This record gives sequence, structure tokens and C-alpha cells, in this order.
Amino acid sequence: MDENFSDENPCCILCGLQLYVRDWFDLDNPGLTCPTLWMSEFRAEGDDWMNPKLSGVGLRATRRNLAPIDPNSRYDDPNINQETVIQITLFKTIFGNDSVAPYFTTAKSFPGFGFHEACWTLLKSMYQPTDIDIRLLNNIYRSFPIQGGLINWGHDYGGRMHYSRDFNSLIPGEVPMLNRLYIHELLSEEEDLNQVFYFYSPSEIPGLTQILHESFASTSSICREQREAFEIPLHIQDPFTRLPVEILEMILMELPSKDVLHLKLASCVFSNILLPQSFFASRFNLGFEFRQILEAQKYHDKIHNWKILYVKVKELSKTHNFRNRMQIWWLILQLQDLLTESCQTPLEGPLSQSFFEPDVPDGGLICSFVSGDLRGPEQLFDDGCRALWTRHTNLPREISSLFVSFTDMDNSYICGLRFEQDNGDDICLGYIRRQSELPLATGHLTFAGDGQNVHGIKLALDKKAFRAISLLMDKERNSNWLGTPDGVPKIRLASLGSPLTALKAGFDVG
Ligand SMILES: [Zn+2]
Repeated sequence: MDENFSDENPCCILCGLQLYVRDWFDLDNPGLTCPTLWMSEFRAEGDDWMNPKLSGVGLRATRRNLAPIDPNSRYDDPNINQETVIQITLFKTIFGNDSVAPYFTTAKSFPGFGFHEACWTLLKSMYQPTDIDIRLLNNIYRSFPIQGGLINWGHDYGGRMHYSRDFNSLIPGEVPMLNRLYIHELLSEEEDLNQVFYFYSPSEIPGLTQILHESFASTSSICREQREAFEIPLHIQDPFTRLPVEILEMILMELPSKDVLHLKLASCVFSNILLPQSFFASRFNLGFEFRQILEAQKYHDKIHNWKILYVKVKELSKTHNFRNRMQIWWLILQLQDLLTESCQTPLEGPLSQSFFEPDVPDGGLICSFVSGDLRGPEQLFDDGCRALWTRHTNLPREISSLFVSFTDMDNSYICGLRFEQDNGDDICLGYIRRQSELPLATGHLTFAGDGQNVHGIKLALDKKAFRAISLLMDKERNSNWLGTPDGVPKIRLASLGSPLTALKAGFDVG
């Protein structure tokens, strides 16, 4: 295997399915009739690791991942300038001089993370009219190990892929590897490709265009419906009779459709309200069941009968293309949460020298050091963790409280520490998530001098990071553990007679 590739059959970072090489895919499946070109059309984002850019749409071929450098171009543009087509090294995880290839060099090759153009279109639609933060996306993806051509960022891609080990058989601290499933492994014995919804393009939903045109109806019947909706029987003993119809409709608009049904069963007032057009239109907004019908956003101003659109789209929901779009949309929502969280949570603490910040002083600290399965920048990153950025902080002699922040991933990991001082000022290290941080210790904590009562730190860790923390107090006494220490190795970072004066830690994402 070329060391530049983590795998020769890379998978889409969004949906988990392979970025198929077009030629062998055709040969391998001569009877294939379901549309599959979408699986070979890809984009990538990458660069010199610090300034990633989005490529144009390329087509995967044997050992060649060629795409135009212009994000607005496609491989099949009739006037494409071949001089602007570049070779992309997909899923390269080894940093170092060889990897930091300038984007516009004569070699015309750069490392990047790949995804189907169809999946990218769905992700992009979620952020419109704003743009996706390509740099943040790149930072997130290079923070997770690549296993079998897949990025393992904490889920099994909606069951499309599978873990190497049953969760119940893991030894303490073990994190299961993710395995790619090839086409034949995704099919049961009686299935062929045409029966599996994974392989149907999420871009095109047959029948949707016709339904959209039917929804471009006149408004006369709609007005009549809405007048009927105002005729609520006021004699009914139902507390909702006190509310005007406008408020009742606003309540309906905020509720998931399933809860609207429950409300109609529980309340006479709501059971008599005909759902207005605005309600059906709201079902196509973010947070509701048909937000992934991007076409409804595109033709929003033309659609007059949202009820017809809603009812008929529901009828389409069992089609293969629709189901695939639904599942990919769900995966994209997980990524959106991660993007939002990463965007809102800066890395705090004074800079310290690291691979990506080599010109920063290292702080001159002599530290005891502990980590999970830490992979260096020039090592293959197929398991464990990476420390892309380093931060350090000097500790005050005394603090009033220590708060710990945890990630929201499947296994919750420590991501930041906040030392609250008597004067109210904070000393922060890492990603501080105040909305969910927990106090490890409150009351006077003294790290040095007379009255020293904190002598070290205890940590529980697995291959990826620290799962729990406690303080080593006087007379070998520990504070309570914070996090999930059970069943994973623990280590003590004691100051061995010297006071604990500083902390230094490595972080990913950035
Ligand atoms: Zn995909």
C-alpha cells in the first residue's frame, strides 16, 4: 500500500460508503441498474493542513483521484482546463514535510478528506446562505483515526459499517475499531444492489418534481380551509379555549408532528383546529421531519399548497432514494452538532510549542507526562489519539474551585479545566464548556506553601483520552472521581514533594 494512502478504497466522510472507482465498479456489476455515478463523483477538502480549500467535483478512477482545483468546476465541464486538474491524496494521516505539499505546486497534488458530491450538497444546504467553515471541518476530521478507509468519529454510520468487536467483549479501556463493509457485505443473500437503498442517489428523488408542481396550486381552497379553522367551539371545558387561534397555531408550529397528533387526541380545542398551511410549511424547516427536502426551500415562494406537498412527500418516504437521503441527513446532523460545538468553544490557555505551532516557546516546563495511545505527526493515525495543539498554564498558589469540562461524544472525555480564583478570575486550560462543566472540588484548594492540600492529580484513561479525574489530597486521600473511571486504567500524577505549579496538555481539533 502506498504510505500516502490510509486505504486504497476510501469512504465518504459524510455517509461512510466508498468513493467508488468508476471503472471497476462497472465491471464488477454488469447487471447494475440503479444509479451509481453519484458514488464516484467526489470532492475533497484539504491543503497544507492549515489552510484547507474545497476542490471541484472529480471522478474517482483507478489509483487516480483527479478533481479540478476550482470549487465551481466539474470533471465533465466541456471547457475544463486540464492544467487546473489536480491529484488528491485521500485520507493521508501522516503529517510532516512530505505531507505539507503546497496547494498550487507543479506536483499538483494535495492531501484531503473526500466525500461524495451528493453528500456535500446536503451538508451545504444545511448552512445556506452561509458557507461551511472548511478549516474547522478539516480540523475535526484530522482529529479522528482512519480505520479501513473510514473516519471513526464515534458512530457506525447508521449501521452502514460495523465495529470490529462487540461492545460487551471489550477489555477495560479498549475502544472498538470501525470496519468498512464492502458492497457484497451490505447485501443479504436474497438481495441485489437494486434492492438496497444505500446505493440510490440522495440527490434525486423520483416523483418529487411532479409533486412540487402540484403544490403550485391556487389559493382559493386554502383560504376556505383557514376560515373553517377559526370556528372553535367555545363552550368546551378546555383551558386552551382561553387562547386566541393565532396563539394556538403558534403552539402547533413549534411542536413535532407526533406531538401535534397527541395534542389533538388530548384537547378538544386542538382536535377542532384544521392545521393551517403555515403548519405544513413549517414541517420543511430545520428541526422537522422534511427539512432534508431541499427542493421545498428552493421553490419556497412558488409553493402555495403546503398540505398537498406534505401529504405526497410522505407517500414518497418509502422510496430508496428518499430513505438514503433521510439517513445521510441524520448523519449530517451529527456532524453539524460537532461543527457548532467546535465553533463555539475556543481552545484556551497560553500557547506551547507543538507540530503545528513550532515557533512558539515550549514554556520550559519539566513535566510528568501521561497519554492514551498517542500517535505522533509522522505516524499512521489508525487508532488512539493525536495531540495537535499544546497549551500550558501556571497554577496560582490557591484557588476556590476547580471545574471540569467534558465532550459530548459517545464516551465522554475531559476537554478542559477551569481554576476559579478567590477574586473571581479564571485560569482556563483547553475547551471550556460552561453549560455542561462539573465542579471537581469547591472550597479552598492550595497547591503550594503553608496549608498545601492538593499534592497531585489522578486520571482514568483509555486509548483515546482521559475519562475521569480526581485530586490527590492530604494523607493519600482522594477527592471524588469526576467522569467515568470504572473499568479503565488509572494513573497518578503526583508532585513527589514539589508543589504542583503548572499543567501542560495536548488537544485535537483546534
Ligand atoms: Zn457520501
